[in-house]
Amino acid sequence: MAKSPQEEHPVKAFGWAARDKSGHLSPFHFSRRATGEEDVQFKVLYCGICHSDLHHIKNEWGFAMYPMVPGHEIVGEVTEIGSKVRNFKVGDKVGVGCIVNSCRSCDNCENDLENYCPKLIPTYSSINQDGTLTQGGYSDIMVSNEHFVVHIPDSLPLDAAAPLLCAGITTYSPLKYFGLDKPGMHIGVVGLGGLGHVAVKFAKAFGVKVTVISTSLGKKDEALGHLGADSFLISKDEEQMQAAMGTMDGIIDTVSAFHPLLPLIGLLKSHGKLIMLGAPDRPLELPVFPLLAGRKIIAGSGIGGMKETQEMLDFAAKHNITADIEVIPVDYLNTAIARLEKADVKYRFVIDIGNTLKHT
Ligand SMILES: [Zn+2]
Ligand SMILES: [Zn+2]
Repeated sequence: MAKSPQEEHPVKAFGWAARDKSGHLSPFHFSRRATGEEDVQFKVLYCGICHSDLHHIKNEWGFAMYPMVPGHEIVGEVTEIGSKVRNFKVGDKVGVGCIVNSCRSCDNCENDLENYCPKLIPTYSSINQDGTLTQGGYSDIMVSNEHFVVHIPDSLPLDAAAPLLCAGITTYSPLKYFGLDKPGMHIGVVGLGGLGHVAVKFAKAFGVKVTVISTSLGKKDEALGHLGADSFLISKDEEQMQAAMGTMDGIIDTVSAFHPLLPLIGLLKSHGKLIMLGAPDRPLELPVFPLLAGRKIIAGSGIGGMKETQEMLDFAAKHNITADIEVIPVDYLNTAIARLEKADVKYRFVIDIGNTLKHT
């Protein structure tokens, strides 16, 4: 049983929490553990609002733990380090993404794939090794084992870099792993939201030709003009879809709502790969015959390991890649969540924790 977060730890912390599945967020006093030997403690400056925060606070995935301080796109400045910390010093700009611990000894962990460790500990709405609830970045202070902390390169603005810790690595990792990062390739990106818009940026930086696939014309100018996609395909336009059949080496599908896979499989060349990143709340239909005809693959991918997360940030710094964000004060949180629910944001809300989180 989780211990009460208000009384277990010596370090006073303050943030905004959801108390039940209404998802309403309000000010919340809790505590963090004292900085352990291998821990880094940092002052949170910005935290992105990921779409999964929305699912979690309303318990739409069924494993919410309240009170819940959401947030796993966290950046800030180191205030204290443990005696055995080697890679960080006070004053460093750092980030924590979706995970704050793992077993460190399974095959996945030993291969820098902590994200696939069966015992990974998510940054919030989970149980720490000491039995207390994990709490995320909509708060003033974070403490994490240094292995799960990354450096934010100096050239990246902290606010626009925050979403890279989830949206960034979630799209970078599959592009690399599935070999969709080769110049001259052609990939599709389905859904132009928090994940999709970063996927376009990474793919373009790899030298890949990118087609954005969307249900409506609304995002066409944005995709082509601002994000630099090469073409735009309306998935409901059968003529356009027909013309694009068999042209893509891979597709990054970021849509978390129920949607048909058949048209997407059709867009793939032989040996093409459809990579699912969204998490629909009910199973999609899998048409098998069109997979056989062309030896096509449908696969999934979830965030990335710590080594690759740092690699992604360094790559982003080199290629000037950040998320497009709308920075908000903490007291705008509930409005932002409501807007996110209607997809009314380009493309990520980031909470200005450092300047606007006021103790009450
Ligand atoms: Zn996320
Ligand atoms: Zn492990």
